[in-house]
Amino acid sequence: MSEQNAALSWFTEQHGRAGSAFSLHVKALLHTEKTPFQSIEIYDTTDWGKLMVIDGCTMVSTRDNFLYHEMMVHPALFTHARAKRVVIIGGGDCGTLLEVLRHEEVEYVAQVEIDERVTRLAEQYFPELCASNGDPRAEFLFVDGIKYMAELEPESVDVVIVDSTDPIGPAKGLFHTTFYTSCCKALRPSGILVQQSESPLVHLDIIKMMRNAMRLSGFHAVRTLTFPQPLYPTGWWSCTMARKGADLSGFRERGAAAKRFATRYYNVDIHRAALALPEFMREAFGD
Ligand code: SAM
Repeated sequence: MSEQNAALSWFTEQHGRAGSAFSLHVKALLHTEKTPFQSIEIYDTTDWGKLMVIDGCTMVSTRDNFLYHEMMVHPALFTHARAKRVVIIGGGDCGTLLEVLRHEEVEYVAQVEIDERVTRLAEQYFPELCASNGDPRAEFLFVDGIKYMAELEPESVDVVIVDSTDPIGPAKGLFHTTFYTSCCKALRPSGILVQQSESPLVHLDIIKMMRNAMRLSGFHAVRTLTFPQPLYPTGWWSCTMARKGADLSGFRERGAAAKRFATRYYNVDIHRAALALPEFMREAFGD
């Protein structure tokens, strides 16, 4: 839920479940539109650069998106031995795509975003996230990710990254066993699914539901990683990885240490630390 004061000096998102709110000082509302899927707003802020809001929920800011995008990509790609074919479901702002394309071993990546307007607005207001959109390895498909995964050839991809909105509206089905079963079928042996999994502090029930559904859908190993994300409810976020036919106990530490591209958050120590679970999460997951 968003609330603008009369002078349009603050954007506020109220987090119903958390009993809290997050505000950014805004200079201007740059764009607003209603697409067939959702409402999108773009703001210029005083200190956080541009801000994209979908259905009243903060999606991306110039200032802090690197935390989320790097953690949605590098742990999974440095866990897989050699991910050649990658699918991103959602991710219309192109920040996840940018990080995937930093990996030289990736030969093809499909970005499957239901709402083309998100990508067109990202190109206009977040050009730095779209800097690699012309890479010949990238394909843009503007269709429903649920249908796309259900129709994908079996054992044809190495990593599926679900960078979606919350489990409501068009993203609801992305948190279901039927979708996870499609992902499991489409992944090659040792393939990895990674999905943004909300806040450990207030959405633990959603994370537990996702982990159970992933296991029920044929994945052998499941791990949840946590990281900071000031823009999202509670400022603390997570992604959950599931692997087909192999475990998730380690990652390619030497490869990550010798990576040939710069990151601002991700490194080997951050990866190790993100895998460590606090007591309340261990207890909730029975790990
Ligand atoms: N980082 C963000 C977060 O966690 O709040 C997500 C950003 S990204 C903009 C989310 C995208 O998922 C949106 O652009 C939305 O259109 C897309 N999306 C939602 N449901 C989808 C579906 N069923 N298939 C493909 N894309 C979907």
